[in-house]
Amino acid sequence: MLPLTLKDIRTEFRSASMAELGLPDLQNIDWAVLDYFGWIHQSGSSAFVIMPVEEEFSTLRLGRIVSNSGRPRTRMCSWCHHVYRSRGTALFRTTVRGSDGRRSIGNHICRNLDCSLRIRNLTSDPPTYLPETLHIQRKISRLQASVLTFMSRAKVLPES
Ligand SMILES: [Zn+2]
Repeated sequence: MLPLTLKDIRTEFRSASMAELGLPDLQNIDWAVLDYFGWIHQSGSSAFVIMPVEEEFSTLRLGRIVSNSGRPRTRMCSWCHHVYRSRGTALFRTTVRGSDGRRSIGNHICRNLDCSLRIRNLTSDPPTYLPETLHIQRKISRLQASVLTFMSRAKVLPES
């Protein structure tokens, strides 16, 4: 995706203060390898996603639950299909827009929102537990489609 500026991000999350956003240093982001920009607030319990959708941006404000209890088990990221041998995903939840906070949806996603790096094998930790012989372009399309589906369920996509 094309690089985002601080101004772009603040425009998209107008209601959030800088402290609430807890942005990483944008200078250190390699935008060219990202399909969406996602980051975790330093508190660890909230997260944000911005993805270009039809020349605009769609965004998600997420709550993040990392579970370190219970027996570790194989988990797959719902967005990029990276399979972790034990822990590696977290539960990300968002409230459905227009539901007055009554309805929420959730997905198990790579806990650092680094799906784009995982499908390109750019992370330093072990590769997926179940490798796929799928062309990178197909993986990118699948990842984008999964994020779009989640955004659609959260009702944050532009009206079409
Ligand atoms: Zn992922």
